[in-house]
Amino acid sequence: MQHQTDAYQDIRDAIRDLCAQFPAEYFRDIDEKRAYPEAFVNALTEAGWLAALIPQEYGGSGLSLTEASVIMEEINRCGGNSGACHGQMYNMGTLLRHGSDVQKKTYLPKIATGELRLQSMAVTEPTTGTDTTKIKTTAVKKEGRYVVNGQKVWISRVQHSDLMILLARTTPLEQVTRKSEGMSIFLVDIHQALKSGMSLQPIPNMVNHETNELFFDNLEIPEENLIGEEGKGFKYILDGLNAERTLIAAECIGDGYWFIDKVSAYVKERKVFGRPIGQNQGVQFPIAKAFINIEAASLMRYEAARRFDAKQACGTQANMSKLLASEASWEAANACLQFHGGFGFANEYDVERKFRETRLYQVAPISTNLIYSYVAEHVLGLPRSF
Ligand SMILES: Cc1cc2nc3c(=O)[nH]c(=O)nc-3n(C[C@H](O)[C@H](O)[C@H](O)COP(=O)(O)OP(=O)(O)OC[C@H]3O[C@@H](n4cnc5c(N)ncnc54)[C@H](O)[C@@H]3O)c2cc1C
Repeated sequence: MQHQTDAYQDIRDAIRDLCAQFPAEYFRDIDEKRAYPEAFVNALTEAGWLAALIPQEYGGSGLSLTEASVIMEEINRCGGNSGACHGQMYNMGTLLRHGSDVQKKTYLPKIATGELRLQSMAVTEPTTGTDTTKIKTTAVKKEGRYVVNGQKVWISRVQHSDLMILLARTTPLEQVTRKSEGMSIFLVDIHQALKSGMSLQPIPNMVNHETNELFFDNLEIPEENLIGEEGKGFKYILDGLNAERTLIAAECIGDGYWFIDKVSAYVKERKVFGRPIGQNQGVQFPIAKAFINIEAASLMRYEAARRFDAKQACGTQANMSKLLASEASWEAANACLQFHGGFGFANEYDVERKFRETRLYQVAPISTNLIYSYVAEHVLGLPRSF
């Protein structure tokens, strides 16, 4: 099939070769066991793909966001799920942009080799949801350390990470002039924290996505683990979101192509009423429509990544690409499930697994309504709604 995915062919070929060692049965089995795809993540790490965005001076490959997005797209297009490890690619961006020289030299080379995994970012809280500036987790400075109390929810890959970025309030909301001020981010040593003040409760969920509730009871974090300046953490987190959203858009695009490839092959083969079901326009059109929307979302992804790589403002394009791609992949997922008929529900076809996996991205890491709201307010200049 000739379409946009012919760009960056060398990266695509290399990822496809690697993914060929992890066929559908591998991911199906991992999904059924609710296990972690350790061998797959290790192979990606050893080949250096998860260090794509780390500059060469810190041992990474210093690739562009455009190239990184192609890596994620191909993993998902091959039937895998980048969600198991995408945090390792983009969470370090906060450290890279706002960390001290010592922090960068200490951690980035080890993150690049995979010796340390920084796959977790703890922002969401149960009682505040998307209203992040109202977070209740506090970090109080006391004699060379910060003491953390509070709770987080939906914090992913904690059990498969060594380090986690934590957002906590260091100045009470009532004492700041702008509600986005007074929050700080910290690098947490997860192994240490689990022995002294942090506990977790896994959340069984619809996809094989290791995610947890976290509880902080006087967790002590050394002062030197503060990233950047105290009070500016929310801004630092926002700075990282454009890369995250663009990469997740690419994952959805990869999912979308997977569904299109899968359903196109199936409807050519499956014969009902004496002819391939794909001969019916009622079958063809939803597939064609989903494909067109994936292609369009992919263009927006390339535009977001191009602007990011050119160091231009890209928040609008990153948000829009995530929205378009998550909806297009879901449209493709529905067409794929529908035209597999009953077989779409059988685990062995992998459609139901990918269907569940791709649905997540209309909710996380940011829900569709919040993107509409961003565009309405910040692009169209409509009155602020909250
Ligand atoms: C599997 C999974 C993994 C996750 N991993 C992480 C992680 O690693 N780290 C982390 O910090 N978080 C993580 N999250 C949390 C995720 O980012 C949030 O679930 C998401 O941002 C939505 O927040 P919420 O669940 O609190 O929904 P809420 O904020 O309660 O919103 C619920 C619904 O109401 C809508 N809504 C809310 N306010 C408005 C409004 N003003 N106007 C219109 N609609 C509105 C939202 O769009 C949404 O659809 C994860 C979530 C899941 C499900």
